[in-house]
Amino acid sequence: MDDECDYLLKAVMVGDSAVGKSNLLSRFARDEFRLDSRPTIGVEFAYRNVRVRDKLIKAQIWDTAGQERFRAITSSYYRGASGAMLVYDMTRRSTFESLTRWLEELRRFGDHDMVIVLIGNKSDLGEAREVAEEEGRGFAELEGIFFLETSALNNTNVEEAFLEMIHRIHKITSQKSL
Ligand code: GDP
Repeated sequence: MDDECDYLLKAVMVGDSAVGKSNLLSRFARDEFRLDSRPTIGVEFAYRNVRVRDKLIKAQIWDTAGQERFRAITSSYYRGASGAMLVYDMTRRSTFESLTRWLEELRRFGDHDMVIVLIGNKSDLGEAREVAEEEGRGFAELEGIFFLETSALNNTNVEEAFLEMIHRIHKITSQKSL
């Protein structure tokens, strides 16, 4: 960890294949978008330093790409994670219907106070929408989690979503250390 950082936090990307997890992360970490779908084998992570008030936080975000086929690494993937970005593709209803299963997994393997942020990605593809924004919001309200629709392609709400997750984690972390 950089000497100037106050602490490191770990967060994980979860959700079905091809919902845009890798592209959301590369937007946030490197401001890049890739047109090719790249099913990753194993785990990757990216870093970004974020200042929250007087603290400099190093956010280490793990990408679950390809994870669906590698269930054996599940528990180490979630270990020590204080946040999760749960992503569905608003143009594919099946990815929205998988959310309950992903939440079960997060609650089984993750810390009890893990911050979960729900993301409906690909908001640029409005004409192909299969999940209404209200459905995403309604699901998030029922589960008590934060919700945003994003576009990794247009870079809409991506920064906002990650920063919201990091701010919420910081709030919990600083309350714990009081
Ligand atoms: P992952 O498997 O969840 O990591 O998904 P990827 O990031 O690899 O993206 C899967 C496919 O969706 C790729 O072809 C991306 O170019 C495309 N994609 C990702 N995000 C968006 C988005 O916001 N809008 C559009 N139109 N396509 C996207």
